[in-house]
Amino acid sequence: MLKIKDVDFMDINREFTDEERMVKESVRKFVDERFLPHVEGYYNDRTFPLELVPEMGKLGLLGCNLEGYGCTKMSSIAYGLVQQELEAGDAGLRSFVSVQSSLFMYAVYAFGSEQQKEKWLPKMAAGEGIGCFGLTEPDFGSNPAGMRTRAVKTATGYKLTGSKCWITNGCVADAAVVWAKLDGEIRGFLVEKDTPGFIATEIKRKLSFQASITAELSFDNCEIPAENILPKTKGLKSPLSCLMQARFGVAWGALGAATACFNEATQYTMDRIQFHDEPLAGRQLIQVKLADMFTEITKAQWLTLQVSRLKDRGELRHQHISMIKMNNTEMALDCARKARAMLGGNGISSEFPVMRHLCNTETVVTYEGTTDIHKLTLGREITGIAAF
Ligand SMILES: Cc1cc2nc3c(=O)[nH]c(=O)nc-3n(C[C@H](O)[C@H](O)[C@H](O)COP(=O)(O)OP(=O)(O)OC[C@H]3O[C@@H](n4cnc5c(N)ncnc54)[C@H](O)[C@@H]3O)c2cc1C
Repeated sequence: MLKIKDVDFMDINREFTDEERMVKESVRKFVDERFLPHVEGYYNDRTFPLELVPEMGKLGLLGCNLEGYGCTKMSSIAYGLVQQELEAGDAGLRSFVSVQSSLFMYAVYAFGSEQQKEKWLPKMAAGEGIGCFGLTEPDFGSNPAGMRTRAVKTATGYKLTGSKCWITNGCVADAAVVWAKLDGEIRGFLVEKDTPGFIATEIKRKLSFQASITAELSFDNCEIPAENILPKTKGLKSPLSCLMQARFGVAWGALGAATACFNEATQYTMDRIQFHDEPLAGRQLIQVKLADMFTEITKAQWLTLQVSRLKDRGELRHQHISMIKMNNTEMALDCARKARAMLGGNGISSEFPVMRHLCNTETVVTYEGTTDIHKLTLGREITGIAAF
């Protein structure tokens, strides 16, 4: 598998601190040495390498958006570079880290009690535990406000009833953050594995995200103790604030997938001879595609850098996140499609990464808010009219 090389036409690396560059290089090394040599097998066998989780913990990649509790707080740019490099490997690897850090751990960090933080965050940061985040339901994806999962107060705690679907890490998680309505208001609950009434079933028929574990969760009068409610959750804005963290990572990750496809298409067309005893890369139609990919990756990098700066200055709005999530994932999908075509028949082989990135990117444009939903968010920003 080809090693990942930077696309850096406008010296974006100069904008990063030494520490940020070091983080990028160390994650790239980890992906090159520990993940890429085996990714074809993981994808074809539909497995995720859980044995790498403690290694990612040691590298400080889990919860690196958080401070304290064993987490290595990094700048937003460094956090983004981590996601970029992981997704240059595979979106499933990046998703594991995003769900653990930005969805499970962030939910506990932002909305949990001190006791919950002490219990869950250090072990999740070390990679000694796995978390998942259950928001989507079979009938409520883009519109989670309609969720049917219910919590009812009991003498000792809460009873949960309902189901969630498409939950990353759902059947390997030690605990799930589950969103349910309590007296009509959305609240977050920690559900530990093996709790009676809680069943997680793997979704096996995926043609995308095959190196990632996805599950359905069901709760049948599932009793959880009173101390497992996330006390500071209040309405839909609580899960949405977790998603804002995760979407930021998705946008950075898409830069990694696009870069991997661009690298592969460039190298392949330099090596491949057709028609005139000259490489395909010498043909105009190939160069147009490479130039388009190069330009779109460069534009997306700078847009993402600016959003990261706004985040670190505390000036980030969710509409900024909508723009980079939508733009970068669509850009990555387009790069993957172009690269796939430029590799001809080899483009569909798992010997090369482009078809895998193409299939993964179909999920990445869909989850954490589809492209259309993010465009509607921007439409409301422009017009003041909600068209959802
Ligand atoms: C591999 C994978 C992993 C996932 N991991 C998680 C996870 O860990 N946790 C979690 O909670 N969820 C997860 N999801 C779920 C994901 O977030 C949802 O699939 C996504 O939000 C879209 O919801 P939906 O699939 O129900 O599509 P729908 O909401 O049914 O949308 C279908 C289509 O209709 C369009 N649409 C919807 N509403 C409107 C409207 N008002 N106007 C115009 N068009 C509209 C959408 O843009 C889309 O094109 C995951 C999904 C996948 C595939």
